[in-house]
Amino acid sequence: MNDFLDFGLINVQKILFVASEAHPLIKTGGLGDIVGSLPAALKSLHADVRLLLPAYRDAVTRAGKFKTIAALNIPGLDSPVNILETNLPGTSVITWLADFPKAYDRPGNPYLDPHGQPWSDNAMRFGLLSHVGAALALGHSRIKWRPDVVHCHDWQTGLVPVLLAREKSRPATIFTIHNLAYQGLFPYQTFTALGLPPDLWSPGALEFHGQLSFIKGGLLFSDQLSTVSPTYALEIQTPEHGCGLDGLLRVRAAHLSGILNGIDFSEWNPTRDPFIDKHYSVRRPKNKATNKLALQKKLGLLPENKMPIIGMVGRLVEQKGIDLMLDTLPALMLRPLQLAVLGSGETTYEEALRQQAVRYAGRFAVHIGYDEQLAHQIEAGADMFLMPSRFEPCGLNQLYSLRYGTIPIVRRVGGLADTVVDATEENIRVGKATGIVFQEAGASALLTSVDRALALWRDRDRWKCLMRAGMRQDFSWHRSAQDYLKLYREARRLG
Ligand code: ADP
Repeated sequence: MNDFLDFGLINVQKILFVASEAHPLIKTGGLGDIVGSLPAALKSLHADVRLLLPAYRDAVTRAGKFKTIAALNIPGLDSPVNILETNLPGTSVITWLADFPKAYDRPGNPYLDPHGQPWSDNAMRFGLLSHVGAALALGHSRIKWRPDVVHCHDWQTGLVPVLLAREKSRPATIFTIHNLAYQGLFPYQTFTALGLPPDLWSPGALEFHGQLSFIKGGLLFSDQLSTVSPTYALEIQTPEHGCGLDGLLRVRAAHLSGILNGIDFSEWNPTRDPFIDKHYSVRRPKNKATNKLALQKKLGLLPENKMPIIGMVGRLVEQKGIDLMLDTLPALMLRPLQLAVLGSGETTYEEALRQQAVRYAGRFAVHIGYDEQLAHQIEAGADMFLMPSRFEPCGLNQLYSLRYGTIPIVRRVGGLADTVVDATEENIRVGKATGIVFQEAGASALLTSVDRALALWRDRDRWKCLMRAGMRQDFSWHRSAQDYLKLYREARRLG
C-alpha cells in the first residue's frame, strides 16, 4: 500500500491539526475527545495527519517519551519555542508539543487558574500557539513536512487563519466551531500587545464591539468553516444561538457545514471497557445490572434494582441546564428514581449540588471533580441519562449513552436533536425510537419527559426495544471522517 501512496496513486492529503486539547494528553470536554480521535480515523482513510498542541506540563508528563525536533523563532519572543515530537498515546498520530515553559509549564486546567478564573495571560498563550501553527504550516523550521490543510479548532487557534491569510503561498485553512459561546475576547490593549497588524482592528476583521475577538479570526479568515452537527450549523446563524456572530455566519453560510462528531469505539464500548465492572452487549445486556449495583455501591446509593438511575456527566455551567435539574430536584425526588451526577464547573452549582446530596442521601449522589473512570461507570450503570442543555453543539454523552443502553433524555437542540429519536408511539412501533426528546428549556418540560421515561421503564418490553435500537446505532467516525476529507479537498480548491 505504501508504494501506492508514494507514487501518488492515492491522493494523500497532509493535514495539520492545531488545537488546545486532545485526549488522552489533555482533556476538559468534548473538544479533547474529538481532537483525540478524529486524526486516527482520518489516518485510517490514508490522510497524513499531524497534531500541534501546547506543551502543558500534564501533557508532557502523559506523553512520556518525546524528542526535540526543531526550534522556532517567533516574533516578539526572546527565546525560541521548541517542538517536542511524540505520538498521541495509543495511536500512530505524530504529535508536536509547542514547548515554551513561561506559557505552558504550569499544573492544572489548560484554561483556568486554581481559582477557576481564566489564566491572565491566555491571549499570549494561545496567540503563541497560533504563531507556532502558522510557522509550521509555512515551513519556517527544520521540519520538512508541509501540510496541504491546517485544521484549527475553537477560539484558541483563531489567529492561525489570520496569520496565514496574509501569505502568498500557504496551505488551505479550516476552522471548526466546537462551541460558539467561547470566543476569546480581550481588551484593545491585548491587540496591541500581541503586535497584530493595525489594519486588523476593524469590525470587518478582529474587532468585536470594542474588543479583540480570537474566534472572529477563524470565522472570517479561514477558507472553510465547519461545526459539529448539522442542526447547530443552522442554529448559529440565528440570533437566538448566534452569540452576536449570527450575521457574520450568515454571510459565510456557503462555506459553513455541519459534520456530526463521531465517538471512539475503542474507548467507549461496553463489550470491552476496562473501567466498568462487567462487560455487556446488545445481545447480552444482562450484565448492565451488575454495573448498576456497582455504581450504587460506589456512590452510596441504595442498592435498588427496581428504581432507574438517571445519570448526568458534564461541565456544571448554565449551558448544560444544570439549574433546570436543580429546580426540579424536589419533584424528581418524589418519584421512584435515583440520580447520579458527576461534574465540575461553577462554584454555585457545585455547592448547590453538594447540599442537595446531603439532603437526599441514598437517592441523589454527587461527585464534584473530573473523573474519567466514573464517567464510564455512570454510562454503564445508569438506566437513563439526562441532558437538558440550553444549547449543545454536538454533545457526546448522549452518543455514549446510546452505545451503553442508557436511554438519553435530551432537549431538542443542536447535536442532541440530530442523534436521539423521540419515543413516540410511531417511532417505537417501527423500532426507530432511541430516547426521550423535549422542546422547552424549562423545569416542567423536564419533569414531563422524566415521567415519560418512567412510564416506558415500567413497560419492560418497550424499554428493551429502545435500548436495542440505541445500542445498534453507529456513531463511529467512519462517515464523518470521510466528510472531513471532502471538506479538506474543497478548502484546497478555494485556498
Ligand atoms: P462539552 O464539550 O460541552 O463539555 P460534550 O458532551 O461534547 O460536552 O463532551 C464532554 C466530554 O467530557 C465527555 O467525554 C464527558 O464524559 C467528559 N466529561 C465532562 N465532565 C466530566 C467530568 N467531570 N469527569 C469526567 N468526564 C467528564
